[in-house]
Amino acid sequence: MSDRLTPIIIVGARGRMGKTLLREIAFSDSMVLEAAVDRSGGPGLGQDAGRVAGLQDLGVEVTDELRPRRSSVVVDFSLPHATETNLRRCVDAGVPLVLGTTGLHKSTRELLRAAASDIPIVSAANFSVGVTLLTKIAGLVAHALGDQWDAEILEIHHNHKRDAPSGTALRIAKAVAKATGRDPDAVLRSDRADPHARPRERGEIGVAAIRGGDSVGEHTLMFLTDGERLELTHRAGDRAIFARGALRAARWVVDKEPGLYTMADVLGLAGLS
Ligand code: NAD
Repeated sequence: MSDRLTPIIIVGARGRMGKTLLREIAFSDSMVLEAAVDRSGGPGLGQDAGRVAGLQDLGVEVTDELRPRRSSVVVDFSLPHATETNLRRCVDAGVPLVLGTTGLHKSTRELLRAAASDIPIVSAANFSVGVTLLTKIAGLVAHALGDQWDAEILEIHHNHKRDAPSGTALRIAKAVAKATGRDPDAVLRSDRADPHARPRERGEIGVAAIRGGDSVGEHTLMFLTDGERLELTHRAGDRAIFARGALRAARWVVDKEPGLYTMADVLGLAGLS
């Protein structure tokens, strides 16, 4: 990491995460806001980004066009339909991307992998340090417990969240599946509310989602066997943790080679297994 200020472009600047990111940058001494972008129309467009985030003016207007300048890093927490365009803009400009948007379509995930041969990208469904560790630990515990223990995941999020189950719950389920030699696509199950649902099959990994209130995000991974239950829980109390993690990733990725990186890479945990 260099000593110079890292110029950051926020995409989704008027959103819950966008405003949180703007506030974190405003109080940082290692980053500077280069641009703030959101969709066309709606309140806040053309206004100073600081005002939009409930702060003093920052001297940067919210615009509806992403035009990244070399040496900056794009931090995108918008919506899945915007990701493909934003990716192309970053590739064309040759700038690194930190992508926090969840619920990406399969075709977008493929494009993401292809774009990573041109630019460095950090993509994570959850930028919190605690969840990154939980995902790592999930695989270690699943491997140690073996197939006599059933793995199930319960996640809770605020009532505005669009995608379900959460990207984080799916990541945790995949970590469990991979650590125990199971194909994630074959064993993941999130349809227990279906009236025609069948009983649990051995080896499957259930993911249940609850939506309500203002919960920033809770994930509990349970391992159940006869007479015992082990629960690993992460509770996010403030969305600033995701913003801080994403901005840490932005400062880390700025001088990296093209590639698709995770938050575990940023934290130096990638080799832990
Ligand atoms: P939000 O709905 O409050 O904000 C989304 C913003 O994106 C809005 O301001 C919207 O106008 C803007 N937007 C929509 N289309 C756009 C476009 N074409 N170009 C630019 N901006 C556009 O949502 P949020 O709670 O801030 O979450 C944003 C995303 O981040 C979601 O996908 C959410 O699941 C994800 N998220 C990820 C993490 C993580 O750690 N990876 C944490 C929290 C939320």
